[in-house]
Amino acid sequence: MPAQVPDASRFEQIRTNLAAVRARVVGACERAGRDPTDVSLIVVTKTYPEHDVRSLAALGVRDVGENRDQEAAPKAAACADLALRWHFVGQLQSNKCRSVARYAALIHSVDRVSLVAALTKAGRAAGRRLDCLVQVGLDEAAGRGGARPDDVPTVAHAIASSEQLRLRGIMAVAPLGADPTAAFARLPGLLEAMRRAHPEVDVLSAGMSADLEAAVGCGATHLRVGSAVLGSRPALR
Ligand SMILES: *Cc1c(COP(=O)(O)O)cnc(C)c1O
Repeated sequence: MPAQVPDASRFEQIRTNLAAVRARVVGACERAGRDPTDVSLIVVTKTYPEHDVRSLAALGVRDVGENRDQEAAPKAAACADLALRWHFVGQLQSNKCRSVARYAALIHSVDRVSLVAALTKAGRAAGRRLDCLVQVGLDEAAGRGGARPDDVPTVAHAIASSEQLRLRGIMAVAPLGADPTAAFARLPGLLEAMRRAHPEVDVLSAGMSADLEAAVGCGATHLRVGSAVLGSRPALR
């Protein structure tokens, strides 16, 4: 069979996985007393090819996420006809901001003040305002990215002070091996504190394949789910 013939069984697998994840989200919302329409599902497509993105779009997915610009930029360009919202969720380097600004609808991973100047320049070059989240590190042992909780207000203020950026809220990744509910329990307070200084913030990005229920229980508005929809990735990243 020629390689370019769409693989029907792959499409069915994605359809089945997506339905299961959507059911998990609905169940978690029921238990939390939340409206499922208040929770956006971002399918993280890193390591997976363009035709999987096309399958997701055909199944009604509107939001997709990527963590490396080298992979995301060509994929977003190839899928431009799908009019998806691309979320940048990976560690951000200053020299990638210009590229990310061309396709990212929401940048989840602003974790230091020094990125703000690069993002401002990038937004100006792209001719648009960039929506940004402050990534907070919930890991005492750091290293997975994220501002220390004490530094979140400073990063938020820097974003909000740039006319080229729009502060939207907070993003977090649960620490490896920790109880996600305990870790995510800090997020509503951090978001509330941010909202007192910046009343417009409305996004809490938390929850992945393994811990989306805990995130919904802690008020997440955006879930970033990869492997539960597309399958487990080679353990590279
Ligand atoms: C890969 C990734 C995800 C998705 O993780 P899964 O465990 O595959 O659901 C979510 N957030 C970030 C920042 C990621 O890098």
